[in-house]
Amino acid sequence: MTSLARVGDDARFAEPFAAVAGGRWRHPSSMGIKVNLYRGFEVAALAAATAEPGVEGCPLECVMVGDSYFMTHLGRASTALATAEEQAWGMDVLESLVAEVRGELDQSFPTPARPCLLADLPNGAAATVERAVVAGGRMVEAGADAVKIELADEAALAAVEALSDRGIPVVAHLGYTPQSDALARHGDSLASAFALFALARRARDAGASAIVLEMVSEAVNRALSAAAGGRPGTLPTYSIFSGRAPYGAQSLNVWDAVFRPVKTGRSFPPTARHDASTERHLYTEPRIASALSRLLRMTLAGEFPPSPRSRLGPDDLDVLRRTDPWVDAGEPPPGRGPVRRGDAPTPVAAHRAGHEVFDDFESAVRTYSRRFPAVFTRARHHLVRDEDGREYVDFLCGAGALNYGHNHPAVIGPVLEYLRDGGIVHGMDLHTAAKRDFIRSIVEVVLQPRGLRYRLQFTGPTGTNAVEAALKVARRATGRTGIVAFTNGFHGMTLGALAATGSAFKRGGAGVPLVHVSRLPYDGYLGDSVDTLDLVVAMLDDPGSGLDRPAAFIVEAVQGEGGVHVAGEGWLRRLEEVARERGILLILDEVQTGCGRTGPFFGFEHAGLVPDLVCLSKSLGGAGLPIGLLLVRPDLDGQAPGEHSGTFRGNNLAFVAGAAALGLWRDPAFVDGIAVRSAHLGARLDALAAREGAAGCSARGRGMLRGLAWADKGRAGRVSQALFAAGMLAETCGPHGEVLKLMPPLTIDVGALEAGLDLLERVVGSTP
Ligand SMILES: *Cc1c(COP(=O)(O)O)cnc(C)c1O
Repeated sequence: MTSLARVGDDARFAEPFAAVAGGRWRHPSSMGIKVNLYRGFEVAALAAATAEPGVEGCPLECVMVGDSYFMTHLGRASTALATAEEQAWGMDVLESLVAEVRGELDQSFPTPARPCLLADLPNGAAATVERAVVAGGRMVEAGADAVKIELADEAALAAVEALSDRGIPVVAHLGYTPQSDALARHGDSLASAFALFALARRARDAGASAIVLEMVSEAVNRALSAAAGGRPGTLPTYSIFSGRAPYGAQSLNVWDAVFRPVKTGRSFPPTARHDASTERHLYTEPRIASALSRLLRMTLAGEFPPSPRSRLGPDDLDVLRRTDPWVDAGEPPPGRGPVRRGDAPTPVAAHRAGHEVFDDFESAVRTYSRRFPAVFTRARHHLVRDEDGREYVDFLCGAGALNYGHNHPAVIGPVLEYLRDGGIVHGMDLHTAAKRDFIRSIVEVVLQPRGLRYRLQFTGPTGTNAVEAALKVARRATGRTGIVAFTNGFHGMTLGALAATGSAFKRGGAGVPLVHVSRLPYDGYLGDSVDTLDLVVAMLDDPGSGLDRPAAFIVEAVQGEGGVHVAGEGWLRRLEEVARERGILLILDEVQTGCGRTGPFFGFEHAGLVPDLVCLSKSLGGAGLPIGLLLVRPDLDGQAPGEHSGTFRGNNLAFVAGAAALGLWRDPAFVDGIAVRSAHLGARLDALAAREGAAGCSARGRGMLRGLAWADKGRAGRVSQALFAAGMLAETCGPHGEVLKLMPPLTIDVGALEAGLDLLERVVGSTP
């Protein structure tokens, strides 16, 4: 048996959690990570994952050898150990795993970045003080820095106290405690929240060093974590499926990362239903590393874990916000009635004041708001302002929906006038004067000067609606079902368009098979020396290739979301030719590239194409007002009246704004202005990329749709965050978020563009 006196003298055991979690409280958005694993090779995979671009330097605070090993690797139905023999066996198994993981941790992680090692005490090991002392001692002897005890009963609390007294750091597990509890979420009523708070305080008073919160409602997790803030009398928190919390840490599980696609991670525990003996061949170090790096990336981006909707009412949430869980606040206020201010427990400084409504009520699926956490109020031209009066230069521009900047007076003016005048706002597909003006504008400004003849099909108001309509028209006209889309293409989030979208993450959200789309390589996918159309042609013309003749190709002239990849003019022309020769229709998805984003009105104009179908949306509504439009070659316009319809095809405000924006195109100075700005933007970014040459930086794009990519795939994300802090909005794109996307308004004045680029240069230079 171990000599417990030795433990207290060893510096490694001095407040391990305060030490590793200490950095977390410097900024509310910073987060800690705990990873549950079992074996040495999983530690090696974790080390590989945390060395990946975009994940490196992630705040890995501790790893835990968990008793879920009995389920994951040994195929048992639960972590329960019923008999004394089983409990002795369980303790032996975990003890040897701890020794194995200790060895690999010391090998794989150099000292400053080495997470501390937490050992789970298996069922029964903390049933009495005596057994807990023996078990804790064995774990420490095997190499653990601390042990975890599930607070299932009073005996467990006594065990926490006994171990802490003997200098063995203990993490107390609250909420759902798998060894003894029915599967349920905790903290969905005020009474249960206050009971959890009381238990957390008892754990602290018993000497616990940190707490784990499992399946606790997000509001309660947040209260415990936010109030901690590193103050004396509070404990660091690690949460499992309890949503996100400022100053909180997330607990991830290696096995789940591999076997449970992250998107369905809301059901828990997932491990019981996997028989390790049949899955083991899938559980290899490289697979674990890649699954983990994906899960870590999502966690760092705030996309994991999903947070189920709170069952606490607004008044309850208000009480929680004003409660310091680490101070005894007495009884919870009864029921959901209005709370009198006089009753308020010790107030806690609200973190990120003004965000509570979003955090409490908005869906977990929100994404931009996580990267740019401000509350925006007003905007003009290229500038956006937040509630605190901070200004941001907008190089995000609604991902291409704000080509004319915010609230362009020539666009918004007519909208205000139209509203004041009592104009029709909603009109199904009824004829309105506003729609007539819009159609005339499109025909006169866009189609006639280019010698293009199309029918105008107004679809539902989004880009994906226009894409769905295009796919329908193409399939109907050809009688074929297949569509060929290209690698890294993005076409929208409804099922048809999603099937044509490259990103596995986005397609994974569908929940049903996405069918009838084949993928072929976009221009440049295999490097500059390969013309990917050689493969396309070979496959189309070979009855043995497995690729049947499709109804259509759908393609972007420049891939926006996919990473700012530009298709060569020759490639696009050849694609058109290949399509024509084989009776395949050509759909240009101009949702992002349209309305001047790449210079001319359409992104395909450089190549001189005449597509069969053209999808437009985003900036077509002039001022960020939604409108979707499909341009259809007249002889393909064969749908029966009402065969495709939609309530919001007649957004007359968008018609008014859109016509006003098209009016800008009548001025040659406007068109020339885009070229001037594009040239500035391109030249400055080329120079910046050259200066960053040592970092493997390249500039790409066309017109006012540009990107910067670095060899370090995480750099773009860090620059985007640093830009936000410095007062600029610019998002990332590409399959790894590895490209910083720069989309200033087409109308930005040149001085402001230069100033924005100066800022970008400074921030790039100072962001490692
Ligand atoms: C944005 C986008 C879409 C989808 O538009 P939504 O309005 O988001 O549905 C489709 N295709 C491309 C190329 C896009 O950039």
